[in-house]
Amino acid sequence: MDRVVSVSFGEIILKGANRSFFVNKLMKHIRRVTREFGSPRVYKGHGKVFIEVNEENIDDIVNRVKKVFGIVYVSPCYRIGKEVEEIEKYSLLATKEAKKNRDINTFKVKCKRVDKNFPIKSMEMARELGGKILNEIEDISVDVHNPDLYVYVDIRSDYCYIYTERVKGYGGLPLGTNGKGLLLLSGGIDSPVAGFMIAKRGVAINAIHYHSYPFTSERAEEKVKKLAEILSIYCGEFNIYSVNILDIQKEINEKCPEDEMTILSRRFMMKIAERIARENDIDALITGESLGQVASQTMKGLNVTNSAVDIPIFRPLIGMDKTDIIEISRDIETYETSILPFEDCCTVFLPKHPVTRPRLEDIEESERLLDVEGLIDNAVKQMEKITVKP
Ligand code: ATP
Ligand code: MG
Repeated sequence: MDRVVSVSFGEIILKGANRSFFVNKLMKHIRRVTREFGSPRVYKGHGKVFIEVNEENIDDIVNRVKKVFGIVYVSPCYRIGKEVEEIEKYSLLATKEAKKNRDINTFKVKCKRVDKNFPIKSMEMARELGGKILNEIEDISVDVHNPDLYVYVDIRSDYCYIYTERVKGYGGLPLGTNGKGLLLLSGGIDSPVAGFMIAKRGVAINAIHYHSYPFTSERAEEKVKKLAEILSIYCGEFNIYSVNILDIQKEINEKCPEDEMTILSRRFMMKIAERIARENDIDALITGESLGQVASQTMKGLNVTNSAVDIPIFRPLIGMDKTDIIEISRDIETYETSILPFEDCCTVFLPKHPVTRPRLEDIEESERLLDVEGLIDNAVKQMEKITVKP
């Protein structure tokens, strides 16, 4: 008997001719995240990927691997030979183990015969194993409709795999199968969630962050870096481009109407991000904006922000309520860091009454009072690049 972790993937199955491209990418990411466990062997089986593990690290590997995008669930398995006695023995063992850890009164055996040469048909095998479990284990009965426990028996060409747990993954597509995006990462709750959601669709993420040092503190920078590190558990190693926009904010503050401060800085953020994206072969910007959440995120506000650039802006949270966004941020474990109370660059010059229905003509007129390109050049010149990993 060996211990392995089986990996099931969802949508990748739909990918037809490109399927092996997606599966190979997925395997690459599984190898990347399991390197810290001594690079266990990862191999392909019909419709699944398997990882050779041992008893000591199996739970840690399950918990690490389930965060790889493209995976629907992972299961800790017993990998055994295909003799009936052995299959019986481990079906019993798996049931006993599960019963020890969970409150289980009913079960059902689900047998799948990938190896059609295996002499016993699935139904027959399931019935046989079910009988054995009923005989040998006390306080358990069969429920074919809604059992507390499924005992999965996968008879494949190489081995038989037995498992009782399906630990949910995030689904989505393997990283790097869908282009590159630049995440506008603030220290807030929303943008890390936005990055997570787009990365889940296979997009490789880099981040850009704006600060107003020394008006904003070093601790605020540390916070953003910490958020990025948490994100990199899912997104892999990436760069943060850190840009000081204090001079830009000062210029706006001095020359433009006070109530346009927020919208004007947002247009600068987009323009700088677009420039960095173009220079790094990145195809889209990603923000944590959600319709109506704050003054700059009204329909008119978003349109004026959009018109600052040509590059597409993805806003995965656009139709979501704050409570739903918070739920995801708790789940991906960015929440506790996001709510730390350090100031963001936007709060430095926050207008008392920001425009909620900006007109593009007015905003463009205000921008004519500024040396937009020169300000951007200067900000980009002083940009810092930080690499983050988990
Ligand atoms: P968040 O919780 O993500 O900060 P928010 O609700 O506070 O969002 P805004 O501050 O208006 O809303 O920002 C909207 C989006 O603009 C953010 O989700 C983020 O993508 C981007 N953004 C805002 N501030 C910054 C910043 N300092 N650096 C980089 N991106 C930023
Ligand atoms: Mg914010």
